[in-house]
Amino acid sequence: MKTKYAFLLITLFYFHLSFSQENINSKKEIEKDLKEAGLAFYNFDVGKSLNLSKKALNQSFEIKDDALIAKSYNIIALNFEEFYEINKAIEYYKRALNHINLTSNDTIKLAINNNLGSIYSYRKNDLKQSIPYYLKGLYFAEKIKDSIEITYTQLNIAGAYFAAKRYNDGIDYLNASKHFVKSKGELEAKISMCTLFGSYYSHLNDNDKAELFFNEAVNLGNKNKSGLIESNLADVYKDFSDYYKKNKKFEKALFYFDLYNESKQNIYNSQRLQNAKLAGNQIEIDEYKRQIDKVEGEKESSKKISKSILILSSVLLFILLLLLLSVYKNYKLRDETNKELTESNKQLVIAKDTAEEASRLKTQFVSTISHELRTPLYGVVGITNIILDEHPTLKDSPHLNSLKFSARYLLSLVNDLLQINKIEENKIELEHLIFNISDEIQTIVESLDFIAKKNNNTLVTEIDSTIPEFLLGDKLRLSQIFINLVSNALKFTNNGEVKVVAKLNRIEGTLNYIDFKIIDNGVGIAKGDQEKIFEKFVQIERKESDYQGTGLGLSIVRKLINLFGSEIYIESEEFKGTTFYFTLAFEADEKLKNQLINNIDVDLSTNKNYRILVVEDNKINQIVTKKILEGNNYKCTILEDGYAAINLLENEKFDLVLMDINMPIINGFETSKLIRSKGIQTPIIALTAFDKQEITEQALASGMNDIIIKPFESAKLFQIISNLLTNK
Ligand code: ADP
Repeated sequence: MKTKYAFLLITLFYFHLSFSQENINSKKEIEKDLKEAGLAFYNFDVGKSLNLSKKALNQSFEIKDDALIAKSYNIIALNFEEFYEINKAIEYYKRALNHINLTSNDTIKLAINNNLGSIYSYRKNDLKQSIPYYLKGLYFAEKIKDSIEITYTQLNIAGAYFAAKRYNDGIDYLNASKHFVKSKGELEAKISMCTLFGSYYSHLNDNDKAELFFNEAVNLGNKNKSGLIESNLADVYKDFSDYYKKNKKFEKALFYFDLYNESKQNIYNSQRLQNAKLAGNQIEIDEYKRQIDKVEGEKESSKKISKSILILSSVLLFILLLLLLSVYKNYKLRDETNKELTESNKQLVIAKDTAEEASRLKTQFVSTISHELRTPLYGVVGITNIILDEHPTLKDSPHLNSLKFSARYLLSLVNDLLQINKIEENKIELEHLIFNISDEIQTIVESLDFIAKKNNNTLVTEIDSTIPEFLLGDKLRLSQIFINLVSNALKFTNNGEVKVVAKLNRIEGTLNYIDFKIIDNGVGIAKGDQEKIFEKFVQIERKESDYQGTGLGLSIVRKLINLFGSEIYIESEEFKGTTFYFTLAFEADEKLKNQLINNIDVDLSTNKNYRILVVEDNKINQIVTKKILEGNNYKCTILEDGYAAINLLENEKFDLVLMDINMPIINGFETSKLIRSKGIQTPIIALTAFDKQEITEQALASGMNDIIIKPFESAKLFQIISNLLTNK
């Protein structure tokens, strides 16, 4: 049972999917070629059919038309099938199916599914594979409501079931197709139907009917001996032969078998086969080329992808490198900043050390200088005192008093430098000494009298008599304030008057608030300069050619007054004069007053011959100290260095030691330590030009008992000596 209806799809023209005239033309051409290829197949001109469908296929690929590709593959597959290249045919049908499934063309879908169903059933006897394709074909045929297609598909399904000897399954399909095939069916369909009925009735052993149908099929086949019909007819002959064979009518069976053979040889003559093979080969070659192109295309696209990946990874790598670079730069920058910071830290530490060292050196310098100045000044003051002692008649000599005072002032100035340094470092403390304000001012006025005379000025004082006679306070620093202000007034006034005024303002508890004024009628100070003059080393335009100042005076004054907890003010008008004024508070205590009076009355000279050892390297100071002591009945031994002193103290008994600090071979501290280490308990008083605060700690640690700062007032020295000796 080989007769079946082949779907050629050669009458289908479609233009509705076209986009351009050019496309329409090439499609028309392809359709034309395919129609011719179909006719050639129908006439068994396989070579022509294959060549045309091959051309159509190539062109369809060029315009990428899946429906035309599918149609081309379909005709190629039909040709292969007819020449028993079954596997190849199946392969090409499936390619056709793949392409048509990409479209919405149900007509072509039904045709190809039908052809696949037929090849599986007729050529492969594989009903299982075949039926699903047929049913799919039927589905599409019903979908497009095409009666012809429905009928032919039914015919094919019936044939498939019959070939598998499942006559009961197939007969319904055959009966369903009958009416349409009879009335409108093509010759091929009619031959198929008659053969199928023949087979069916043969199966039913209804030989009359079977023979009737077989004969009808043979008659139809002989009507048109075109290639395909001839092939169908050959199949009819075979089925007829089989029928006779089955009915043991061998003669007739042989007759139809011969006809079958003849037809087959006619169809499959060697020349045709050769042509078919050549055309088939060519199609296969083209197909391989297409496959290769496809692979190449894939390669190309994979190349493109690789290229893209390469570019992408290069970009990524570049970005990564940039990132790395920026990280590295950041790191370097941070590293550099760190290094810079470390470096500047180092520099800061160095700068701090340098500053500290400079400050230490400055302090040391100021301290050394003041010490070096104080020592000779001690000599000046001391010698002045000696002269006054030796020549009591000179006591009233204003020159000698001026000398003495100036020396003391100079000494004070040295101290001031030290003090200004200390005030700025907040190191200074005011002393609490008993004094009489009138005496102090008078002394200052007298000492400055010669300056007053030089400028032909009169210097007057106006002291409030209600001010307590004895006050407690830092009289030395008060003197410094007056000396500075009064000497300035005298310097900047000519043929005028300078007045020093002290007036009790008020008493608060033990505190006496005293207003002080230093008034002159000299050159005056311009408004703009009045604040400036209190700054260090500031001097307003020189008023006199011989005036030699340092510019320190007023800044010391202001600092000192501030130290007293007060403020200095100025009132001045150019060419009219200047007034400096300030208020200071001093304590006044009756007990203190009495004590002072008692002290004054005490005779500090002694009748007992106390032995004092003076250790001092400065020759002038040796003379001064010796003179003071002996003037008060003390026995005095002088030695120049510490070792000699230790030696002497080990062998002789002294009541007291006056020890200089700054000596060449061994200093006062070390000498005292050695003395104490030998168990000698003789009181030791440090006699030094050093600032008391600076050395107190070290002096006590060395075993010294007290400190007297040079220059000293004899009374103070004897007070301390007598205290120590009495305590002993
Ligand atoms: P010095 O007196 O050493 O120059 P001061 O600090 O004491 O330094 O004074 C600063 C400046 O103030 C002086 O140079 C002077 O020009 C001005 N001055 C101070 N006192 C008076 C005064 N009584 N009359 C006029 N000018 C004064």
